[in-house]
Amino acid sequence: MDISAPPSKRARKSPQLDEDITGIRAILSDEFDEDIALIKAHSCQLETKQQLQAVIQELSQKLPHFQHLKRVQDRSVLICPSSEIGVTESLEQHLEQFAFSEHVLRALCQGVRVVEVPERMPRLRVQYEKTLKHWPCKFHPNHYSESLRNGSNFSSAQRAFHKRMGQLLVRLSQDVNANRPVGICVDPRLSSIVSIAGTGEVCKPHEHCCMMLVDFVARSQEGGATQTEVVFTEDSKEETTLRGIPKAYYDYLMSNADYKNLTFGAEKSRECKEVNVVQGADNLAKFGPYLCTGYDVYLLQEPCLMCSMALVHSRAKRVFFVKNSDNGALATRFQLHSVRELNHHYEVFQFTTEENEDLT
Ligand SMILES: [Zn+2]
Repeated sequence: MDISAPPSKRARKSPQLDEDITGIRAILSDEFDEDIALIKAHSCQLETKQQLQAVIQELSQKLPHFQHLKRVQDRSVLICPSSEIGVTESLEQHLEQFAFSEHVLRALCQGVRVVEVPERMPRLRVQYEKTLKHWPCKFHPNHYSESLRNGSNFSSAQRAFHKRMGQLLVRLSQDVNANRPVGICVDPRLSSIVSIAGTGEVCKPHEHCCMMLVDFVARSQEGGATQTEVVFTEDSKEETTLRGIPKAYYDYLMSNADYKNLTFGAEKSRECKEVNVVQGADNLAKFGPYLCTGYDVYLLQEPCLMCSMALVHSRAKRVFFVKNSDNGALATRFQLHSVRELNHHYEVFQFTTEENEDLT
């Protein structure tokens, strides 16, 4: 027995991962997370402020660089990235080809020095503040991005619900699915569980938990393609359907007092003529269930590329996961959700636990 580890470290290895889920963090693309790279630029120092107008006017026409930066700081003016100037040429030789008027050219060649400036515009205030010590840049704060970063995008009730789903994943995996991965799909309008799926003991190569989940959601819409031995829950209500929830999970949850107040069931597919025209409503409210449109997906394991793409194709609204996967495509290997070229984008969140707290 290893007695060198302090009790708190050993306790962490206990199966109580559900209690370790302490928070939720948004996985934003690198352009939000990384410090902004610096590039070298040539600058000059004007003798008087009166020179400023003529210099800036010609510079912005002939060398329209640095759209994301303020071109002037006190009397220092940014001329061009240093990389534009040839190894064997001087600044003056470089500028000659742009036919500046003589007095501007003279001004540009005074007090020349190389400075470091941010390569691009910051996306978050924290990045903006770091850039300020180098050179003033432009910044258009985005309230929603800031709220994702600082966690204020969720109300405390929403946050509690998401955390509960994260904890539920761990419980279901341990108690019902022999510690194999589990996923839950929720209709956030009703805080209702639409579908649950887990990786089977024996499964075909494509039958990952997330693929099964998407397929079981399709079952709730009278679709679904996978041949499975799984027994699904019978419907008991008119308005919603339990057909996407395997009976083993449903029975476990119904028999456990901790889960008495959970809501189950998906809105049933609507006939085409039943389209609800509500001003400003999203597609789920307007057209009813279609694949995972408007739905939240909770996964014990970060999904692989195939599964992450399946969530794109099925139009999931948000994806939450607990544990990183070696082949994970949302945080570990890629950030699939930040690929602009895709025709659908979901938001991604990871539950923070004692083990990955340093990520926050
Ligand atoms: Zn997968």
